[in-house]
Amino acid sequence: MAKLYFKYGAMGSSKSANALITKFNYEERGMNVWLIKPSVDTRDGKHTLKSRIGLSAEADIIGENDNIHEMLKKKKDVDVIISDECQFFTCSQIDELREIVDFKGIPVMCFGLRTDFKTQLFEGSKRLFEVADSITEIKTICSCGRKATVNARIDSDGYVLTKGRQVLLGDNDRYIAMCHRCFAKAIKDKKAVR
Ligand SMILES: [Zn+2]
Repeated sequence: MAKLYFKYGAMGSSKSANALITKFNYEERGMNVWLIKPSVDTRDGKHTLKSRIGLSAEADIIGENDNIHEMLKKKKDVDVIISDECQFFTCSQIDELREIVDFKGIPVMCFGLRTDFKTQLFEGSKRLFEVADSITEIKTICSCGRKATVNARIDSDGYVLTKGRQVLLGDNDRYIAMCHRCFAKAIKDKKAVR
């Protein structure tokens, strides 16, 4: 049975690397992978999905108003769909992926963040938590050794920001994955974390 998978983690938890390794594993078994990602994330160049450990592959970009189910009809012999940065999909696009799983029998693996720098769910992640068949966490650790769950956005002096727009792309250095305790403490004590 095909399933809709959501594999989430904080920043720096190797989600992109995991997505690319999964793609490699399917292809090794002779299966056709359709690699996609939302257009809002163009930090690696428009069509490349890149991980920090050096893996990369070409991905089809899904625009905010694109219908993924319609786009799939133009593709041939897709056995599995893999997407990175799924938090940036709209609610409707996650529903389209759900339809593909249910009516085409194609498994869909979604990698992405759970929450933004204000610890609020992203639209795509929220919908995935609601409709995914399988939800797993890709873990990474805070500098204190606990599991990191928060993607803290920091200013140029290293202070944790609590206000601003949800999406701020193009500068990965502005984020630190932290446990909630260190995050809350840094805000309360007004202490620089870098
Ligand atoms: Zn911590």
